[in-house]
Amino acid sequence: MFSTKVAKVRNLYIGGSFPVRVQTMYNSALKSDETDSVVKLIGKLAQMGCDLIRFSYTSKEDGSAFKEIASRSVIPVVADIHFDYLLAIDAIKNKADKIRINPGNIGAKWKRDEVVRAALDNGVAIRIGLNSGSLPLNDKGLKKTDLMVETALSYINDFEALGFTNTVVSLKSSSTDETLEANRKLKALCDYPIHLGVTEAGSSVISSVRSTWALGNLLNEKIGDTIRVSITGSVSDEVISACEILRTLGLKKTGVRLISCPRCGRHTFDTERMVKSLEEKLLMLDKDITVAIMGCQVNGPGEAKEADFALTGIGRKAFLYKKGELYKEVDYSNAEKELLDAIQE
Ligand code: SF4
Repeated sequence: MFSTKVAKVRNLYIGGSFPVRVQTMYNSALKSDETDSVVKLIGKLAQMGCDLIRFSYTSKEDGSAFKEIASRSVIPVVADIHFDYLLAIDAIKNKADKIRINPGNIGAKWKRDEVVRAALDNGVAIRIGLNSGSLPLNDKGLKKTDLMVETALSYINDFEALGFTNTVVSLKSSSTDETLEANRKLKALCDYPIHLGVTEAGSSVISSVRSTWALGNLLNEKIGDTIRVSITGSVSDEVISACEILRTLGLKKTGVRLISCPRCGRHTFDTERMVKSLEEKLLMLDKDITVAIMGCQVNGPGEAKEADFALTGIGRKAFLYKKGELYKEVDYSNAEKELLDAIQE
């Protein structure tokens, strides 16, 4: 959204005036007998707001599963390459829309030149993905963030010398301070789209806090065109968290805004289970609304009166509100379905 240059990944544009894109990474090895379930998962993530998904491409054996997934995926698919440049070329043959290479381990310049030529011939984008844990040799004794920036810029120059500009850059660190510093330095010197993320960020709660701090600050400074919230956990949580960061910053205007009360001694309605069960389903809806799940009938309706739809209750009894007005009284076991039906009416 904030770079001058734009990258094209299949039919998706990153950078320029395009919205900040949400990415995630599949967290298991590719298996030929699981492609159906992976394609289904991608469909769900796309509905929740995910714009592109990355897969580890660890050997040529990954090729057939990757190709099938890339061919059937509703969103662009990225191959994550470490060490072996031939795997990058293999992934390009197998329909990768974008390749991520790590300058810390991709090897000699002639090898990455081969990757760049293959990407150029096939209209594939490349992310220069630096990671503070696997940096190239620091023979000039540079500060880590300077080494990251200098390496990214020298790759960009080499790519441009071959006529390649379909590039995205990322400088990731597990330290939020380094992530902030490296990306600020990069932005001052580079017009290419920047992918943001805090790497090895931890569990869902911890990663969301760290990522919100680092990515939120950078996006507020107009740095970053695509983001990933790396979570030791589910890929759905990565997408939920990334979309919520963008929504909170006002960079994503559409989708369901889910609010729920923290609960207190008055709560008689199991909001925790209800929110857990409803969250993904609500985020998959193509609606621009606010939905509130509240823990008691005493204060819940009042506290949720700004919401388009609200659900609260007493024990097994649930009350569904539309625009602050009581709409229906239903049994707890039907409450979820009744809410979703009411939203879809
Ligand atoms: S809605 Fe009810 S349960 Fe929830 S925080 Fe308010 S008073 Fe407590």
